[in-house]
Amino acid sequence: MGYEDWHTHNEGCKHAKGKIEEYIKNAIKFKLRTIGVSDHFPYEFLEDIERIPYEEYAITLPEIERYLTTSEDLRDKYKEDIIVRLGFEIDYFKNQESALNTHLTPIKKRLDFILGSIHILNFFNGKGAWGFDDSRFRKDYDYYGADKVYMFYYQSLQKMMNSERFDFDILAHFDLPKKFNDIPMNKEIIDNEMMKTLELIKKRDFTTEINSGGLRKDCKEQYPSKKIIEEMYSLDIPILLGSDAHKPEEVAWKFKKLIKMLKKIGYNQLAHFNRRKRSFIEI
Ligand SMILES: [Zn+2]
Ligand SMILES: [Zn+2]
Repeated sequence: MGYEDWHTHNEGCKHAKGKIEEYIKNAIKFKLRTIGVSDHFPYEFLEDIERIPYEEYAITLPEIERYLTTSEDLRDKYKEDIIVRLGFEIDYFKNQESALNTHLTPIKKRLDFILGSIHILNFFNGKGAWGFDDSRFRKDYDYYGADKVYMFYYQSLQKMMNSERFDFDILAHFDLPKKFNDIPMNKEIIDNEMMKTLELIKKRDFTTEINSGGLRKDCKEQYPSKKIIEEMYSLDIPILLGSDAHKPEEVAWKFKKLIKMLKKIGYNQLAHFNRRKRSFIEI
C-alpha cells in the first residue's frame, strides 16, 4: 500500500524551504498515496504574542487565499498521480478562539483536515508567551524547568480538546516538549497527566499523528514515544502519519520504519481525511 503523509510545510511559512509543488512531486516520486498540505495558520491576529517572532512562524492572513488556490490547482494538476488533501496546522491559544474563527470559518469548507498543535505556552504569572520548541527560547525552558513545561503542555492539550470552539481533527506531535531531550524529574506525575490527555483524546474521538519529525531532532525519536503509542493502541486511538517536512526531501521521512513499528504494536489501519470526514485505510 502507498503511504500517506499528513503533515508538510512549504516556503509560505518563512521557515520551511521549497514550493508546495516540490513537496507534491517528491511525494509522487516516493509513491505516496496521499499528501496532506498543512502549512502553519496565521498568528498576527492573536493577543499576547509580543515575544513571539510570528512573522517567521506562519503564512499571513492576506496569503491564505493564494495558499488555498495554489494547493487546489496542484490537486487538480496531479490528480492522476496522487491524492492531495488540503489542511492547516493551527495553534491553540486559550480564550482566543473567536479571533481565530473570524479568519478560519470563511475558508473552512475548503479544508480536508486540521492539525491541532501547541508550540506556544503562556504561564500564569510567567514572562509571557514563548515557543517551547524554538531553540531561541531555551532560556525560558530552563527558567521554568521540564516538569513545569510538560505539565502545562499536557494541560493545554486538554484545554484544546475541551474547547468547543477550537475545531480540529488531528492532534499533532503529542509529546513535543521532549524535542531538545529534556526529561521530566517527576516522571510519575507527568505520566499521569499524559494518560489523562490520552483518555480525553479517546473520549473526544480525535485522531493522533505519529510524527517522524522527532527523528530529525535532538530527542531522536518520533512523536510520541513507542511507550505512548502502545498506550494509544490499547485505548484504540486512531492514528495517521506525518513527516512535518520543512524541506521537500523530508516528505514521508522514515515512514517505512514507523509502519514496521506500528504493525508490531498491533495497528493495522490508519486514518484518512476527506473534507473533514474520517475513514480508514489498511496497512
Ligand atoms: Zn514549522
Ligand atoms: Zn508543529
